[in-house]
Amino acid sequence: MPDWLQVTDKFTGDEIGRLPAAGAQEVDVAVRRALAAFPSWSTTPAHRRAAILLKAAALIDERRDRFTETIAREAGKAWKHSANEVGRSVETFTFAGEEAKRIHGETVPMDASVFGENRVGFYLRAPLGVVSAITPFNFPLNLVAHKVAPALAAGNAVVLKPAEETPLTAVLMAECLREAGLPDGVLELVHGDGPVTGEALVRHPLPAKVSFTGSPPVGAHILQHAGLKRVTLELGNNSGTIVEPDANLDAAVPRCVMSAFANAGQVCISLQRLYVHEGIATAFMDRFLAETRALKVGNPLDRDCDVGPMISDEAAERADEWTSEAVAEGATLLVGGRREGRLVWPAVLTDTRPEMKVMCREAFAPLVSVVFYKDFEDALRMLGDSPYGLQAGIYTQDLRKAFRAVAALDVGGILVNDTSIFRVDHMPYGGNRMSGIGREGVRFAVEEMTNLKFVCFNLA
Ligand code: NAD
Repeated sequence: MPDWLQVTDKFTGDEIGRLPAAGAQEVDVAVRRALAAFPSWSTTPAHRRAAILLKAAALIDERRDRFTETIAREAGKAWKHSANEVGRSVETFTFAGEEAKRIHGETVPMDASVFGENRVGFYLRAPLGVVSAITPFNFPLNLVAHKVAPALAAGNAVVLKPAEETPLTAVLMAECLREAGLPDGVLELVHGDGPVTGEALVRHPLPAKVSFTGSPPVGAHILQHAGLKRVTLELGNNSGTIVEPDANLDAAVPRCVMSAFANAGQVCISLQRLYVHEGIATAFMDRFLAETRALKVGNPLDRDCDVGPMISDEAAERADEWTSEAVAEGATLLVGGRREGRLVWPAVLTDTRPEMKVMCREAFAPLVSVVFYKDFEDALRMLGDSPYGLQAGIYTQDLRKAFRAVAALDVGGILVNDTSIFRVDHMPYGGNRMSGIGREGVRFAVEEMTNLKFVCFNLA
């Protein structure tokens, strides 16, 4: 008898699904099935791989409501944000279908070397083999798509372990791929907890790569235990955004509110540290606090819900604890501080200090700290003072300041006149330092999921 993974509705707590959990033995079977499917898939013509990915995109699009409801229930994500994730994943699959047709190398001018005369050189991009994909709960469809779609586009087979809290969406996605014509074995799913199922997948010697999105401690652990494999790590951040006095507040205020509280703050590029110039403190804060208070917290299935439940009781308790701890250490709570079970009302803090957990660690909760500054260089220094380096935002009309931020910040992406949260699915995306290793965004993931194969003809 298998062990069962129980999946719950995060708002009601009801069981909404049950899947067999995989131990080391089941993981081994899945890896071997994927490996067996690889030779035929890797030699499937690009136009055929493209057609399957584009068909899968169309099927996800047709089933938008079913996907949206599944995400809203198993992840607790508000309906409108769940629907947005589905729309984005249709784009991710479409980009991957298009990318499948343009995976190519280039020629190398061999006679640039005195030893290379009379030779013709070029390189190809070859798939790696089996890619192990391990994903988090907060985007149960699109972050899975970001691994599966480019891997398949490039001709790899995949063993996917979705987050144990949110595996049902991945099952629906796999169904779309199967119906679109993906051959058996090319995508294998294994379900279960990280320390058992994930660990077995990471340690398995046969996959060529581990592609992981999740928390920094698990990422560091994976890097130590993956062995001689390629590893891509998409990890966390304590993202920040600067708002200069010349910012367009009509655009910046609602965007900052959404960026801090969408998906109950459980987004890796969620706005956690907001640096506002003191000259616009009152104008910005009056609107920012009013719009935060107006957010609707509750059942994610309600079409007008803004903030649904957090993923677990522990996550909600931790959010509460960090806020209370900051207040005990001298911070001021301007809005929020209310919790009912997994529902946490958006919290806005000020008078925080850099060493407080709400500032220096990844909160991954509906809380934001606002810091007022006088000098732009100080704001840049405070924003950059982080062990993480995923994305950062800056609102300014001044090109010199924008380019100064680009030069000064060690992050994977800088958004000018937007917050840290902006992402579309074909741009390069990933972090530096504790935020990870490597980049996703379909074309960039394809690059990391292929090996260069150099070819040289001696014509002498
Ligand atoms: P998590 O690290 O707890 O879990 C992520 C996945 O890793 C899950 O599937 C889990 O089962 C698995 N896992 C756990 N322990 C494992 C082990 N020992 N071996 C192998 N796999 C293991 O993260 P989470 O709570 O699901 O997600 C939140 C984190 O993900 C946050 O830190 C967030 O910033 C990060 N995140 C990053 C990005 C990005 O693109 N950079 C996107 C979304 C989320």
